[in-house]
Amino acid sequence: MVERVPEGVDTSRPSIARVYDAVLGGEHNFAVDRAIADEALRIVPEIGDVGRYNRALLGRGVRYLAQAGTRQFLDLGSGLPTVRNTHEAARASAPDARVVYVDIDPAVSAYGREILAADPSTALLTADLREPDTVLDHPEVRRLIDFGEPVGLLLLGVIHHLNDEEDPAGIVKRYVDALPPGSHLFLTHFCASSPDAAQLESALLSDLGTGRFRTLEEITAYFDGLELVDPGVTYLPRWRPDKPVGLPLTVGQSLMAGGLARKN
Ligand code: SAM
Repeated sequence: MVERVPEGVDTSRPSIARVYDAVLGGEHNFAVDRAIADEALRIVPEIGDVGRYNRALLGRGVRYLAQAGTRQFLDLGSGLPTVRNTHEAARASAPDARVVYVDIDPAVSAYGREILAADPSTALLTADLREPDTVLDHPEVRRLIDFGEPVGLLLLGVIHHLNDEEDPAGIVKRYVDALPPGSHLFLTHFCASSPDAAQLESALLSDLGTGRFRTLEEITAYFDGLELVDPGVTYLPRWRPDKPVGLPLTVGQSLMAGGLARKN
């Protein structure tokens, strides 16, 4: 539970980042956030595991990218700093990795800056990913990301917070178009995989205002024009697992899907 409220943080309205933190069992959240996390927990009791599957996948995907030679990462909708952030995952294989974190929520930078303060190879920006030009031209992005070298673009658990009218596919494409060949798109998304997923979508849309569950086909379409890395777009625990995953998957295990693809 948070005792100190950072500047610019509104505790009377829920925030996506803090609801996610509450679901993960973190401490940077308030009563308004926990009410939504509790409702999500009622609908899908394994919801906490879903966040953990997503963070575990972040680790596996970033390790894949670092081992494939990626040295710079742009992590959009990065969330509150939590265990094993992108720069830690990357540096386990590539100690010289550079990471720019971007999130719309001022609470993310308030807490995150303390963690990243002493690290000149990371930056944390408060910005809206729906404004690609602002993000791509930001001085901190230009300082740390060389657009002449492959970039790992991370959009994990965030594109489902864009409604259809906001043209999520167009926004993803705008970022991918800015990257040189050899770059990768790494994306995870709520998946319309069960009646419980539909119920959770209704609850999130009404309480939080965002949270679109899209089909595997719709999620796959974000990777149009790119070469998907095996096994393609799939449910999180099935993407290059470190140990075998039992089948059939549970509701929670299939609540999100994602993939990683190369720009040739
Ligand atoms: N990427 C992390 C992960 O996968 O564990 C965090 C995911 S969290 C569910 C989604 C994050 O996206 C939140 O921190 C939220 O503030 C951020 N977000 C939502 N809409 C955004 C936008 N338009 N621009 C930037 N960040 C956004």
